[in-house]
Amino acid sequence: MSALSSLGGLPGTAVCAEGGFSSALRLADERVRVDVVIAGTGAAGLCAALAAREAGAERVLVIEKLPLAGGHTLISSGSVSVARTPEEVVGLMNEMLDAGGGRADPALVRVVCEGSWAAKERLARLGVAWSEAPFRAVGAPSARSWNTGTAQSGYDYVQALMRAVRRAGIEVRFSMPATALLVEDRQGVRRVTGLTAERSDGRRLLVEAGAVVLATGGFTGNAAMIRRSRPDIPRGMETTGNPMGEYLDGSTGDGILMAVEAGAALRDMDAVIMLPFAGGRLVDYVGGEVWVNAQGRRFISEGAGFAELCGRVLKEPGARMWAVSDALAPKGATLPMKLMNGAVKEAPDLAALARGIGCSETVLRETLERYNRSVVNGWDEDFGISMRGLPVATPPFYYGLETLSIHYTAGGIAITPQAEVKDAAGRVIPGLYAAGETTGGVHGALRVGGLGLTDALVMGDVAGREAAGAAAAAASATTKG
Ligand SMILES: Cc1cc2nc3c(=O)[nH]c(=O)nc-3n(C[C@H](O)[C@H](O)[C@H](O)COP(=O)(O)OP(=O)(O)OC[C@H]3O[C@@H](n4cnc5c(N)ncnc54)[C@H](O)[C@@H]3O)c2cc1C
Repeated sequence: MSALSSLGGLPGTAVCAEGGFSSALRLADERVRVDVVIAGTGAAGLCAALAAREAGAERVLVIEKLPLAGGHTLISSGSVSVARTPEEVVGLMNEMLDAGGGRADPALVRVVCEGSWAAKERLARLGVAWSEAPFRAVGAPSARSWNTGTAQSGYDYVQALMRAVRRAGIEVRFSMPATALLVEDRQGVRRVTGLTAERSDGRRLLVEAGAVVLATGGFTGNAAMIRRSRPDIPRGMETTGNPMGEYLDGSTGDGILMAVEAGAALRDMDAVIMLPFAGGRLVDYVGGEVWVNAQGRRFISEGAGFAELCGRVLKEPGARMWAVSDALAPKGATLPMKLMNGAVKEAPDLAALARGIGCSETVLRETLERYNRSVVNGWDEDFGISMRGLPVATPPFYYGLETLSIHYTAGGIAITPQAEVKDAAGRVIPGLYAAGETTGGVHGALRVGGLGLTDALVMGDVAGREAAGAAAAAASATTKG
């Protein structure tokens, strides 16, 4: 059985050759030669493309599976956690290492944290207008996250990055999934020298490249891979990347599957993060909504980490909770859609809200009074911890049922701090780089809120730069040879 089918995926197999790729060449409808080819147009892929160009790669090609750019970056809430001073870097590293349960690679964590502020500054130079102050993202222990202050921060980042890619004259081909890596095997030493891609009309592209960057996102959208990595997750669980299956989702683990065929090692594949976010929740920061159970009582702090949150939601009957916000809380872009499809409802007053939830109005009123007192006093009366936020008091109220969805896959391709892909023996596979959610090791068992994007922005940049260097070295070796 091939490594691909054992993982639950199936695009082509790696095309291996000792003296060339004659069969792949014969089958290709088009053949191009570039310095760096990048698969994926999320934060990682677009940052890699810009960094590769900046580092001197003249011919950079980006291919994207879907007809639109952005992947999960586009639809993300856009919380980007960063650290500026050395003290903040240490603080953020400790938060990541704690959350990762001893499984995150400290060297990768360091690269991401140390590069985080520069990544934010780079986006600012590309035109991203950051909000004025950091906030606490859901699933984060402290207020280190930034966004654009609009309801569509992820879209803002993709727009800015795509504009820069266009300005740099970098070619992007859409509806063009990478299907396999070209792997040259010389006396047992493997080197990646390009990839194949295939359009939906069957046209096949063969890209020969000095280096390849895989930036194809995670595998939340590949049910077979999720089942294999986490057999305990109930079949058919929705994903936040594609709630109700209505969205185009490229996160099917393609990069992971291709890398494995080329000999790459994987790590932390069981680190699949679930959270309630595909239903009634409208805000992705702590302090904008209250979470209550079927009785109208808070059962968890809204600032809890992803692991605690999942554990507590699973203990509620039917693994469900209600998210309640009011007219004043700034909300994400999903409000109109969720109102339209009924995931969120509007209640003109507290009595209607209690009726909608099906709980006692008295209990709910007490819950909201305690919550509002807590945010005003900065001390959570229910859980005995400090808290910040806005009162949930101004009608109309918005409320909706939430249950767990698959949100993020923290495991994937094993990489070095230079984004080089490693094999099972820990050796680098020359010519192959990976960045963003397709990789494993940055977060370990669990990711901190706001660090998925930081990871993609920082490691995409690293991968692009390193890939450009490798391509230049390969070209000069060929010239000398
Ligand atoms: C609803 C939602 C909200 C989120 N909010 C936040 C947040 O606020 N903060 C945070 O830090 N993280 C958040 N995340 C996670 C974060 O969005 C992702 O971890 C991050 O965007 C990953 O970036 P990426 O570049 O690695 O992958 P993506 O942005 O997913 O991009 C991968 C791209 O590769 C393409 N692709 C896939 N296969 C192929 C192939 N074979 N060939 C070519 N292209 C391919 C995909 O179509 C996609 O365009 C959120 C995720 C979701 C789903």
